[in-house]
Amino acid sequence: MSLLRSADPHRVREVRGQSRRLRRVVSYPPPSTGTNYNLVPKVEHDPKDKVIWKIMRSLEGHFVYDFRLKSNKRKRRKRCSCCQSFVEPGKKKCLKCQSEKRKARNRRYYQSLKGRIKTVFPWDLSIDF
Ligand SMILES: [Zn+2]
Repeated sequence: MSLLRSADPHRVREVRGQSRRLRRVVSYPPPSTGTNYNLVPKVEHDPKDKVIWKIMRSLEGHFVYDFRLKSNKRKRRKRCSCCQSFVEPGKKKCLKCQSEKRKARNRRYYQSLKGRIKTVFPWDLSIDF
């Protein structure tokens, strides 16, 4: 009896964990615009899955006519478009190439700013005086 009782909390925790894993979530489509109504009111799906709404863009407004479930499990690791090393999901470039690109953009920005100051000010002065 005492053995059974001591095992009980563990079993309860196990069942709870299982139900959490099996729990499904409900996603709602973006609201329709204009006179049309969404053909899909809601979708019940696995928490892992991502719902991709198929939206009809008619002249009377947008509405959802279908959906597709995209499993996140099959996601493949992407490679950096510059150096071909693996990147974090959702990123196009690795952190190194990203910072390089940012540096280059900043350099270009400051150069154009410097150029503008150099060319604009003398012109302004020559017109005013
Ligand atoms: Zn890279």
